[in-house]
Amino acid sequence: MASRLHRVARSGRCESRTREGRTTSRVRRRLACVTVLSLSALLVACQTMEEVSRIYLRATPEGRKLLAKWDRYAELADVLKKYHDDGDLGERDVLAVLKAAGVVPARAAGRPGAPGPPPPEAAQLAAGRNAWGWPLKAGVVSSEYGRRAARPHHGIDIAADTGEPIYAAAAGDVIYSDNKMSGYGNVIILKHDDKTTSLYAHARRLGVRRGQRVARGAPIADVGSTGRSTGPHLHFEIRVADAAVNPRSVLPKSRF
Ligand SMILES: [Zn+2]
Repeated sequence: MASRLHRVARSGRCESRTREGRTTSRVRRRLACVTVLSLSALLVACQTMEEVSRIYLRATPEGRKLLAKWDRYAELADVLKKYHDDGDLGERDVLAVLKAAGVVPARAAGRPGAPGPPPPEAAQLAAGRNAWGWPLKAGVVSSEYGRRAARPHHGIDIAADTGEPIYAAAAGDVIYSDNKMSGYGNVIILKHDDKTTSLYAHARRLGVRRGQRVARGAPIADVGSTGRSTGPHLHFEIRVADAAVNPRSVLPKSRF
């Protein structure tokens, strides 16, 4: 009797285990199915977002012009990618301007090439991700932030047509609008808080003067090729004190 009970108990456990096994594999199959469907939906959504932005832009004449520009730049990307800085830009000159504006402590300025503090995290920037916008409405990134030919590149180069408006990436005060910095050509520096600045170089024309206050998105200059440059482009920097930050870590995601 004891052994019969034992057998029944054991077979009950087996049945229960088999049922659990079936249930588990059914759940796994459903999970896999849901995952595949979710990934497909995400892919479709991404394409749809691009389409939605295109539909939105097609609704106005300005939007249609911008779309046409995006498409033309995409076709000319191989040519535009040849337009960037031509050699070193005057790091010492930038630090002198930032020091004069009180953005860089006196002891940190005037030592170009010296190891500085590590670049701050994007989250540390006072303006915050939502407060920044791209300085051009269309273009092709021809040189990323980082090292270029074994030298540091403190900004990002965006090639575009000569004369295209350059916009303030965030609200700020103009602390420099001139052409006396080595290699930068016509350049503007905006101060956004007591330590954050942005810089716009190689402009054909400067549209604001030192001391002016500008809103985010205000036109401040035109794209050009002044200074050390291989063709029309904007060299754009964001700094916290003297440390350059990768603009892509601060700006919203962009199609260029
Ligand atoms: Zn550059």
